[in-house]
Amino acid sequence: MEKITLTIDGKEVTGIAGQTIMEVARENGFHIPHLCYHPKLSKTGACRLCIVRINNTMLKASCTEPVVSDMKVITEDEGIKSIRKWLLGLILMEGDHNCLYCDADGDCQLQAYVKTYEVEQSKEDFPVIEREIDYITSNAIKRNENRCILCGRCVRACKEIQVSNVWGLCERGSSTHLIADDDKKIGESTCVKCGTCVQYCPTGALTFQPVLGKGPNWELKKESSICIYCGVGCKIDFYTNKEGLLVKTMGHEDGPNDGHLCVKGRFGFDFVQSPKRLTKPLIKKEGQFQEVGWNEALDFVAQKLSAAKEQFGPDSIAGLSSAKCTNEENYVMQKFMRSVIGTNNIDHCARL
Ligand code: SF4
Ligand code: SF4
Ligand code: SF4
Repeated sequence: MEKITLTIDGKEVTGIAGQTIMEVARENGFHIPHLCYHPKLSKTGACRLCIVRINNTMLKASCTEPVVSDMKVITEDEGIKSIRKWLLGLILMEGDHNCLYCDADGDCQLQAYVKTYEVEQSKEDFPVIEREIDYITSNAIKRNENRCILCGRCVRACKEIQVSNVWGLCERGSSTHLIADDDKKIGESTCVKCGTCVQYCPTGALTFQPVLGKGPNWELKKESSICIYCGVGCKIDFYTNKEGLLVKTMGHEDGPNDGHLCVKGRFGFDFVQSPKRLTKPLIKKEGQFQEVGWNEALDFVAQKLSAAKEQFGPDSIAGLSSAKCTNEENYVMQKFMRSVIGTNNIDHCARL
């Protein structure tokens, strides 16, 4: 692979032929502002926020511009700053960005850049087009198109990662807008509720339905773990609020899932805080389940299993384990069935 040497903000760095300025800059610890760019998606160079100055003259979108030898890149100067500020101002003018009422408040790339570049709300008369707010048709995704900046990340994420191809941008110019399938409500579309588009959306245009009323983003605590459901072993970031309630899950970027989750990993954890969970053992007595102590319950199970094994043999017994237990608990269950009961009749609901 051909090595390319260039400078970024005066520092000599090396990339390989075919890489973009954005990629080499990120590998070397430079942050170049961006909204439509995401390292896991194809590049469109649409938002222009990532412009850099090349060889002290021209401005180029760093997410699409390839590196060449001896190139001199400046990631920000006064001219670039004022263009970024102007671009952000245009984005704000076109939509409704009242952060007070937005689920993305405190976790929004647009909001962060608006603060960094001290963009004022424009007083100019701009024809704001009222777009769709759909908070009800899907039990997974909330959609407010007035916060959409047409970056296309959801379109590419759904097409390139989830391969469902639900989202699309239609019409042209100032009429351009986002549609699901052939302009359906999201809850009536072919969306499989993987939540990937929400994870890649840099604003509050797409947010998760279940986060409603569970506390502000800046109070959430993140902990990484492994999904319990299937053998892929996706790495998940779990977000809990101040009360310890699970608010949302995000695919961890560096897991085997590369940041992606299916509907189970994304939304299948509400059971954790369900009031319907059994927390005490029950034994049916005279046709009715009754709460009993753990010693009584375990003695009862041991006696019944031993009797069945003695009378009908170990293969008369089967164990069905649960995806809602930990991997360790499932391991113990299969060990118990094989080593203690003496049968291979052990299965698990997530295999289905
Ligand atoms: S999308 Fe971002 S900038 Fe717009 S209202 Fe929501 S938090 Fe604010
Ligand atoms: S939730 Fe998944 S399937 Fe549905 S639109 Fe988003 S990326 Fe596509
Ligand atoms: S919904 Fe979000 S990800 Fe999709 S185009 Fe709009 S701002 Fe971009």
